[in-house]
Amino acid sequence: MTIKNDKVVLIHYTLKDDKGETIDSSEGQEPLGYLHGKKNIVVGLESVLDGQKAGQKLNVIVKPEDGYGIYDEKMKQEVEKSKFGKEAELQVGARFQAETPQGVTIACIKEIKDKTVIVDFNHELAGKTLYFDIEIMDVRDASAEELEHGHVHGTGGHKH
Ligand code: ZN
Repeated sequence: MTIKNDKVVLIHYTLKDDKGETIDSSEGQEPLGYLHGKKNIVVGLESVLDGQKAGQKLNVIVKPEDGYGIYDEKMKQEVEKSKFGKEAELQVGARFQAETPQGVTIACIKEIKDKTVIVDFNHELAGKTLYFDIEIMDVRDASAEELEHGHVHGTGGHKH
């Protein structure tokens, strides 16, 4: 079966950065299931997988604009320390959930000053070129329920 919109695709993947360091991998776990054409995965990867078949192995390079976006300096902001809860341990590199006009995001503390903290609201992979090793394990039709939910159920998908 060929990958096209509304098919369920199961892939094993390893994601590396431009230094060859592994950022994420499905190795040793069940494959990742996604619903093709629903932007469950980054668009640069989804577009290359279109028209491929189960059993194929691919190396895919995804530029930042087709991945997690361009790094935006304006998304680095200075926040008063008092905005953080009392128990919050302020540490460079610490990640926390933050509410932004674009929704809930994971932000990262970049620098700690006297009264303020420099917080980076960019996605941690923003500005990065992504190197994927992909193996397509299975391609199947989606159920009506999966299409309604916009994601995969069962192996590699949502367990609910
Ligand atoms: Zn669901």
